[in-house]
Amino acid sequence: MGHRLGCLLAVLTFTALVAMLLWSYFATVIAEPGGVPPGWHPFADEEAAMTQQDYLDYPAYPVSGQAMMAKPRYCKKCKAWKPLRAHHDSISGRCVLKMDHYCIWVVNCVGLLNYKHFLLFLFWTCAACLEAAALLITSFVQFLTDSGQSAGESAVTPAIVFVAFVIDAAFFISLLGFLIMHARMVARNSTSIEMYEKAGLLPHYPHDRGFRENFKDVFGPRSWWWLIPHYTPAERRQRLEQALQPQAHEMSARTGGGGAAWLPPLMVAGWLEVFQALQW
Ligand SMILES: [Zn+2]
Repeated sequence: MGHRLGCLLAVLTFTALVAMLLWSYFATVIAEPGGVPPGWHPFADEEAAMTQQDYLDYPAYPVSGQAMMAKPRYCKKCKAWKPLRAHHDSISGRCVLKMDHYCIWVVNCVGLLNYKHFLLFLFWTCAACLEAAALLITSFVQFLTDSGQSAGESAVTPAIVFVAFVIDAAFFISLLGFLIMHARMVARNSTSIEMYEKAGLLPHYPHDRGFRENFKDVFGPRSWWWLIPHYTPAERRQRLEQALQPQAHEMSARTGGGGAAWLPPLMVAGWLEVFQALQW
């Protein structure tokens, strides 16, 4: 009875994990990552934006009160102004807010409005792989230690267990490394692009507001919603407004930072090079 109950619980848990990973995956695939609205500009009025021709010579303006200065950013490919932390996605041919990377596995750009979904996809996949490995490991060890075949057992079953365990473990280790790398970026409020440009590794990273605020910046303010790949319309609106008003956002941002200080280096640079090469 106890054994059957355990089996039922294992099946139900695994089914729930797979459902969550599929939900997170398709949420990442179909989500609008956060395009820059047509006509957006960082200037005080339309006239200034229209008459600003020599954009590269435009003087720096304050971004975070007295903390930092920045020039207006212009995308030559879109022929449009772009906010802080927006980058041009050459695959979709447009600028994306807080762009992290273009992911070939989700066939979408990962940015402001679907980075949470992407991280949850990694998280739930890791969890599902871990449970599968835990369920298979006894049979796997038995396969390695048994020289003879168990009575009444097909020759195919142990081979399937062996292959399934090895593939599952390989997926788990790879995705866990990727998840840890992204956890460090979330802890610093950085992105893959910014880490690649080494801006995210600066000792006083301008977007770092401390771990708690950095985490909520991606996963939202409500803790019961953190593991769900979804933003409410109000959250989406707030995120867009925040990303499109970088000056106001940065002004309240600096509270000391150091959110990732508790995380070890974890070979981030090496992992990053590999995944950048793979276009993750
Ligand atoms: Zn662009």
